[in-house]
Amino acid sequence: MEEKKKTIAVIGGGASGILCSILLKQALKDVNVIIFERQERIGKKILQTGNGRCNLSNNSISWKDYNTCGVDGVLQQFTPKKCKEVFTSLGLWLDEDNEGRIYPYSYRAQTVLDVLLEKIKELEIEVITNFNVLEIKALDDFSIYSTDLRLYHADYVIMATGGLASINKNDNKCFNSYEILKSLGHHIIEPIAGLCALKTKEKTKSLSGLRMKVKASIINNNEKHTSYGEVLFKDEGLSGIVIFDLSRFYRHNEHSIIELDFFPTYTEEEIKQKIGTRPLKLALCGCLPKMIVQDVLTRSKNKTIEEIIFLLKHYTYTITQSYGFANAQITMGGVLFNEVNPFTMQSLLIKKLYLIGEVLDVDGKCGGYNLHFAWASAYVAANDIIKNFN
Ligand SMILES: Cc1cc2nc3c(=O)[nH]c(=O)nc-3n(C[C@H](O)[C@H](O)[C@H](O)COP(=O)(O)OP(=O)(O)OC[C@H]3O[C@@H](n4cnc5c(N)ncnc54)[C@H](O)[C@@H]3O)c2cc1C
Repeated sequence: MEEKKKTIAVIGGGASGILCSILLKQALKDVNVIIFERQERIGKKILQTGNGRCNLSNNSISWKDYNTCGVDGVLQQFTPKKCKEVFTSLGLWLDEDNEGRIYPYSYRAQTVLDVLLEKIKELEIEVITNFNVLEIKALDDFSIYSTDLRLYHADYVIMATGGLASINKNDNKCFNSYEILKSLGHHIIEPIAGLCALKTKEKTKSLSGLRMKVKASIINNNEKHTSYGEVLFKDEGLSGIVIFDLSRFYRHNEHSIIELDFFPTYTEEEIKQKIGTRPLKLALCGCLPKMIVQDVLTRSKNKTIEEIIFLLKHYTYTITQSYGFANAQITMGGVLFNEVNPFTMQSLLIKKLYLIGEVLDVDGKCGGYNLHFAWASAYVAANDIIKNFN
């Protein structure tokens, strides 16, 4: 009698799920690899990444750029060089900017998705869309139930369901994966929005639209993190890459301050010397946008040169909240990373269950780090399944 084909179910057709299914099917020809996706298409978020250009990795990837050193086991196996090899082998041309960020040569996220979708077609990977997984039961095999009560069975399950970032509030209610994983015994660190803009108590509307290169720090009760880059003033707060990076350190239940330094390369004394005896307002207009000059004059109580220079080096904003998941690039929190084997991504609680990508409590800084982890964990999980397949 012919033996029944084994099935690997990949739950979630995002970056990690798509790459994992391709790597699996390339190696395991006689296995059904099925992607279950709750939306009407797979890979939708890839199109949003890097402002539509998809910053897919970075040459300087290190565990130090993530919230947990545990990711090192994954990163060692999937270096930026390996990432480039894998995508090149899939037919994607690549390019890098002078800060080491890796992009498709076309600088179009659509090209990345096109290459992945072509491969899925070529390998005849089954894709079932509009299938919102509601529950998974792990007995002899896995039973996978959708919200509309369809049922599939699988020998392996890969949870690649991502997080809540870029999902609006109403749609949040359809996001079941944390509940599914809890019912399988896993623990969830409360998800919060990361790499996002921050709302401030102080008004920013008069500066809205202004971009400036600054040194910025976030100061929580007893810790301070600093980053250099562009801040973008919004109607109700601060955005821009530097703020996105610092938002990873914003703890919602703590009193947090953002401090901007508009003159990171000068000391207060040096600024004072450069201004010399020129009238203050005129001197400031030679080095700052007029909107900032106006704003700092409004902030200043006694209008002395010393006070104004101090303010410009310590321009503080009190954070009231983030702009929320709908406007965030990533989810911080998710399944405890120490509940998976960091060298294989297999659950330590349930055999043949793998967790990859953002569903885990792993977050990295801006610049290709989060997609890199999505690809890396997919690669590691696929390798482990291929090696030990039974
Ligand atoms: C606007 C934006 C820009 C970004 N830019 C970059 C960038 O340039 N570089 C970078 O490194 N990172 C970037 N990121 C972050 C990056 O996109 C994510 O870290 C990455 O996509 C995570 O991959 P994933 O496979 O874990 O999850 P996702 O890509 O979120 O995929 C998860 C998939 O699972 C599906 N799903 C969820 N639950 C279920 C269920 N119960 N049943 C069936 N299907 C389900 C979802 O619909 C989704 O398709 C950006 C994110 C956003 C929102």
